[in-house]
Amino acid sequence: MAVCYYDGKYAPMEECSLPLTDLAIQRGVGAFESIRIYDGTPFAMTMHLDRLAGSVAGAGIEAAGIIGKLPGVIRGWLAQEENRGFDGLAKPYITGGDVNNRGVFPNPRFFVIFEDSHGPTPEEREKGVVLVPNHTARPFPLIKSTNYLFGFIPLGKAEDAKFESLYITPEGEVTESMSSNFFICKEGKIVTAPVGKVLKGVTRDIILTLAAENGFKVEERCPRESELAEADEAFITGSVKEVLPVVRIGAVKIGNGRPGPVAQALRHLFVKNKGRWMDK
Ligand SMILES: *Cc1c(COP(=O)(O)O)cnc(C)c1O
Repeated sequence: MAVCYYDGKYAPMEECSLPLTDLAIQRGVGAFESIRIYDGTPFAMTMHLDRLAGSVAGAGIEAAGIIGKLPGVIRGWLAQEENRGFDGLAKPYITGGDVNNRGVFPNPRFFVIFEDSHGPTPEEREKGVVLVPNHTARPFPLIKSTNYLFGFIPLGKAEDAKFESLYITPEGEVTESMSSNFFICKEGKIVTAPVGKVLKGVTRDIILTLAAENGFKVEERCPRESELAEADEAFITGSVKEVLPVVRIGAVKIGNGRPGPVAQALRHLFVKNKGRWMDK
């Protein structure tokens, strides 16, 4: 059962609702995070909350006070006896609230959802997933906005297998997928877009740290769309997916069409080193 912290208390999610006057509903003004909780302990919570602070600042939402309250709200729920060992997600949202001072939102609302995590299926992990090309730049890449419409539109139109859409700028730079960072492996190097062109993914940061520590060569630049066909491997990262192989992008098969060894090695490293980023 999902629980929500809203308006000063924890309650079943179905009892919580946002007023229709909120700008999150009327204009899509809002930012959020999905924080993985493993066995009662938040994973990389500080990194997520720092990013949320950056998202709201970038969006003109004045929410410094809210950011300061979030660790207590999350830990407060995890500390309750019945939530011992909880495995799932804590998802803080900050909305624009009701007041719009020409692009500045001085009176935001916030809520935190606690719910189960629905990661990739065993089959998706084993066989890899298909992405749908989305020839659009994601606007304001450093903001984790609640508005995913620009990612959903091409996904909805694609008729065959599909997992997420993949943003490719009109100039042919491959940036990130709908809710994950994107990587290719080519000529012995891992290539991924630099932060600023894409969201500063928490999983991306951790994977790049582990890659460097373990002797992988990394190039931070946007892969060209034309390089996809030449890649040996591709994969995406995100808090729920961790590391997930990509075997096809639209009509373009990646490598031999099967998950590759680099994605597998990095996922093993991630699982093995997870403890280093637990916010005890
Ligand atoms: C959430 C998200 C990611 C992944 O970020 P993590 O911090 O690793 O979960 C990447 N790109 C976009 C657009 C996202 O919304």
